[in-house]
Amino acid sequence: MEGILGRRMTVDGRPTSVIGHRSSVISRRSSVISRRSSVVIVGAGPAGMSAALFLAKKGIASTLIEKEVFPRNKICGDGLSGWVVSMLRRIDPGLLKKLQELPEQLPSSGVRFFAPNMKNLALPYFSAKYPDDPPGHVIRRIDFDRLLAEEVKGKELIELIEGVEVGSVDIHETGVILTDSTGTLKFEAEMVIGACGAASRLFRELAPRKNDNRNHATGIRQYYEGVTGVHPGNFVDFYFLEKFLPGYLWVFPLPNGKANVGAGIRTDILKKKRISLKQVMEEAIAVNPHLAERFANAKPISGISAWDLPLGSKKVALSGNRFLLAGDAASLVDPFTGEGVGNAMWSGFAAAEHIEKALASGQFDQKFNSRYDRFVYKKLWSEMKLSTTIQNLINKPWLFKLVMNHAAGNEFLKQSVTRMIDDLEERKKLRRPWWYVRVLIGR
Ligand SMILES: Cc1cc2nc3c(=O)[nH]c(=O)nc-3n(C[C@H](O)[C@H](O)[C@H](O)COP(=O)(O)OP(=O)(O)OC[C@H]3O[C@@H](n4cnc5c(N)ncnc54)[C@H](O)[C@@H]3O)c2cc1C
Repeated sequence: MEGILGRRMTVDGRPTSVIGHRSSVISRRSSVISRRSSVVIVGAGPAGMSAALFLAKKGIASTLIEKEVFPRNKICGDGLSGWVVSMLRRIDPGLLKKLQELPEQLPSSGVRFFAPNMKNLALPYFSAKYPDDPPGHVIRRIDFDRLLAEEVKGKELIELIEGVEVGSVDIHETGVILTDSTGTLKFEAEMVIGACGAASRLFRELAPRKNDNRNHATGIRQYYEGVTGVHPGNFVDFYFLEKFLPGYLWVFPLPNGKANVGAGIRTDILKKKRISLKQVMEEAIAVNPHLAERFANAKPISGISAWDLPLGSKKVALSGNRFLLAGDAASLVDPFTGEGVGNAMWSGFAAAEHIEKALASGQFDQKFNSRYDRFVYKKLWSEMKLSTTIQNLINKPWLFKLVMNHAAGNEFLKQSVTRMIDDLEERKKLRRPWWYVRVLIGR
């Protein structure tokens, strides 16, 4: 269907455009403009763009609405795990290759955890199935999301509309009506995917949530250049500092000697202890001898920015009549690592799988859509619970320090934790007392 939004678009002189095979001129001076498509996706982050790409693979057209204009920024640690790598491969191995060839990315092959006494546990990632592919990457989100947006733009079946903020979502018996924030654009659809991230309140009335700071984290990030002491395999570094537990600092290396540096902690603890993340980060860099050495010749190349992480430590409603939520809008950030890109992309895949069935059967109601909730939690919940267990371990500083003090040089622990990165069964051992006993005795 040729849409009303079918040619190059400028909205009231804003630098706004429709990208893709279709684009159009829309004048807001005209009366309300509306169009209908099967699926509308709100938010072109990793969740929304993956949903559109997986729908397109199935031959299903979608309209993807993004309030910003690419290249757009997103506050993030910029670390892409093996989970993201496997999602890119699932979208198209050619897309993964494009990432690998980008000069803006740095291949990363492991993680280092620094205990409060700065002893570190270095854990290499590996993938037995794809030994030639870098197991992870660090790339600024402005560059990674642009890569995904380029992929989206190349698809006939996806209409990406940038610079349009969806202001309301109204569910009717016969369809969904979305209206932009100026009230002049209307989009009608059979189904809508809410992939509008952590901050949007767009779906809060449809899927109400209590303000729950225990299941939220707050993070800040700043770009630096000149940070030294990077592991030869470009490992991503996590620092657990005595006074800041259960929060942590991170230093993720980027190309050309740059780094993404940040700090994050659960929001309830941040508020209760009145912690200033900026102060924690700046003090650590200046005072901690190990960090001070790494930052001796470093300088910030950006300001400090903060953003929310909705953690997957509690189940929430992920759907209702005619809508599904994906990514941060569905609270799917890993409670231990703060990693959300992989789960956002996977939930985009899950949403596409579900919508294919909904369109085929003509069922869009809450009961039918609750299958999506079950599908998502069946895949992710046990992992979320385990990550919550680890988060709770860090919240008991005495136990965490005990484990970390015994970590360096402990082959059993190294192998076990390395396997945990890939293997869910291995992670389950964290719940068993004997695992801690073996860590402490070193076997
Ligand atoms: C400090 C910090 C560090 C992090 N570090 C990492 C990390 O290293 N690795 C990792 O995997 N994850 C990390 N995360 C989590 C990760 O950033 C998110 O989980 C991920 O971006 C979620 O993707 P998403 O597509 O759900 O949402 P987003 O990426 O937030 O995308 C949502 C999109 O929706 C758009 N939008 C919002 N409202 C509207 C509207 N009304 N109309 C139209 N468009 C709208 C937004 O502009 C945005 O483009 C970090 C998060 C933070 C805050």
